[in-house]
Amino acid sequence: MDLNKILKDMENCPCGRVHTFDTKVVEIGSGITAKTGKILADAGFPKTVLLVADENTLAAADGILPALKEEGFHVKKLVYENMKSARVEQVVEIEALAEDVDGIISVGTGSLNDLCRVASFRKKKMFCIFATAPSMDGFASDTAPIIENNFKSSWQAAQPAVIIADTKILAAAPVELKSSGFGDMVAKYIGLVDWKLSTLLTGEYYCENIANLTKTATDRIMDLAERVTENSEEAAGAIMESLVMTGLAMKLAGCSRPASGAEHVVSHYLECYKVIRGIWPDYHGKKVGVATVLLNRAYHNIADRVESVTAVPDATDWDEVYSKYDAVLHDDIKKLNNPTVTDEVDPADLQAKWPEIRRIIKETLPTDEVLMKKMKAAGAVVDPEAVHVPPALLQDSLRFHPYMRHRMLLTRLMPMLNLDIMDFID
Ligand SMILES: [Zn+2]
Ligand SMILES: [Zn+2]
Repeated sequence: MDLNKILKDMENCPCGRVHTFDTKVVEIGSGITAKTGKILADAGFPKTVLLVADENTLAAADGILPALKEEGFHVKKLVYENMKSARVEQVVEIEALAEDVDGIISVGTGSLNDLCRVASFRKKKMFCIFATAPSMDGFASDTAPIIENNFKSSWQAAQPAVIIADTKILAAAPVELKSSGFGDMVAKYIGLVDWKLSTLLTGEYYCENIANLTKTATDRIMDLAERVTENSEEAAGAIMESLVMTGLAMKLAGCSRPASGAEHVVSHYLECYKVIRGIWPDYHGKKVGVATVLLNRAYHNIADRVESVTAVPDATDWDEVYSKYDAVLHDDIKKLNNPTVTDEVDPADLQAKWPEIRRIIKETLPTDEVLMKKMKAAGAVVDPEAVHVPPALLQDSLRFHPYMRHRMLLTRLMPMLNLDIMDFID
């Protein structure tokens, strides 16, 4: 990827901010595993490194160890059996092993990257991701979800200096992972609606150029839907590029607005519920994809059916909200909602801008028909049952997720509009 061009296009941005990111090199190409050592050496990566993988990802990255050896890298290895969730215990383990190395290479996706991202940040080590599947949008992220005492929260972390992905490996990744990556990408449409809407109602910072980066990357993925499940290097490479691009967009914007909206918060609600109960909560992109389909439909239905509104000051029933969260989360919910984000919204203004909100929804989102067709073509699941979410939990997640963020979302406005999101999901 031509990172310099992206940065150059962002120079003198009309939004008034200076946009930068820390990632120096992104190499996505066919058969480039053999060049890993060379790419890292050219990027100035230190020669003494800790490589972290699990048995599956190390097998997928066949050839990486000789490629590093050839360029004179001294590699210390930590290979887990099967890494499914990133826990603080493993962050500590990686940090201890990283004491006498200068760089950390994560071989894999999701949780492995999250662990190494945090350890690299805290130990000030240069960080590289060697991606083995295009499964989620966090590659270029600078935060990571880590579980501590069965509680998942976002930790500050290092954006990788180098991201390497061999399209032969990406294309051969399990279909479930590639389809998850697709689900995580289509979510960006909802993210863009929520971002635009917040700018309109609260004056939150917004950058048209960054929103366009996300939109272009997402449109590209939609066009490739039919090829996601194939062993196609072109499709897998394009998904990877788009996923990396949205991560860079977040860093450019200095917030996660370009990559996530209400659907990510719904997914987070479900995740918290399950993690607290010791249940593994399915792949990120899979849950996000299901939430995106439901909210895409709900947003359209709201725009279609609610022609005008009578907005009132936020009528949230707070006792009910707290009853829908486990006690361990109550302090967070309290902090996030005092003041609560609707304090920034004037009912009269919301009422006056309703036609504009309807227009934003209709012009930003794909139709339900198109999205369903693309999700199915991409092998992505669309039913809540497929991510093990029973109806009652689904209902709670759709109604009560907005309180987990201090963030304007269309779903957060329901108590000001006297609407129930559940009336719009079919
Ligand atoms: Zn800008
Ligand atoms: Zn995501």
